[in-house]
Amino acid sequence: MCSTQLSLFSSDDSKDTNIKEQKSKAKEIKENSKVLEEKKLEESEVLTEEDKKIIEIENYYKSKNDLSDIQIVEYIEQIKSVALSCQKCVLAKTRTQVVFSDGNPNAPIMIIGEGPGENEDLSGIPFVGRAGQLLDKILLSGGINRQQDVYISNVVKCRPPKNRDPEQVEMKACSIYLKNQLELVNAKIILLVGSIATNFILEKTFSITKVRGNWIEKDGKFIMPVLHPAYLLRNPSKDVGSPKWQMWQDIKKVKQKLEELKGK
Ligand code: URA
Repeated sequence: MCSTQLSLFSSDDSKDTNIKEQKSKAKEIKENSKVLEEKKLEESEVLTEEDKKIIEIENYYKSKNDLSDIQIVEYIEQIKSVALSCQKCVLAKTRTQVVFSDGNPNAPIMIIGEGPGENEDLSGIPFVGRAGQLLDKILLSGGINRQQDVYISNVVKCRPPKNRDPEQVEMKACSIYLKNQLELVNAKIILLVGSIATNFILEKTFSITKVRGNWIEKDGKFIMPVLHPAYLLRNPSKDVGSPKWQMWQDIKKVKQKLEELKGK
């Protein structure tokens, strides 16, 4: 009897303890996830010094109506001056210099690549290495002049070490610069060079070989993903259907669209 009682007691006791433990565990999980949520919210709300400066510049220019071409160039230069000393992500630690842009800020075409390579990091100019030279050649054979018709930049403005792909967090950190460039340059034609720029800007995972050469209309802009010239360097054939041939078809479409838009 005594032992039964004892066992009953002890079993009741352990039941209570279990329930208590479960309750406190549930409370702990709830509290932890609350802390995590708050941390996430806090992180997303933390503005870096660079963000604050950019917002100040944006507010200054947004208080004016209809910016002249000169004011637009001035505005971009101010955004660039923030970018040049940017410390928003780890790429700042390994870059030689920030690679902001090249070409004409009033151009009808904007080209966006993924990020600077070694030559770009050394020169401070996007698309100047072998891939860049090939891109220039392709554009020119399509009657598009890089300095006159194009404004060119990258998703990330600093070279990723050993030319690795930029991380999502790096692309996000850098996007405040690209957002301003896209708004200010206001090119009607946007070429997204390669899968990284395409997927980041269109916020979707595409197969570049399937999506390339297709126009995507968004906010009155004509966006076309194209193959990366570095890929073309690895695939030198010019046969019908080859990557180089495909690029040539795409550039012809770009030239046609440019003419169409000029005619309007
Ligand atoms: N590749 C890119 O995507 N951008 C450059 O500026 C150079 C090579």
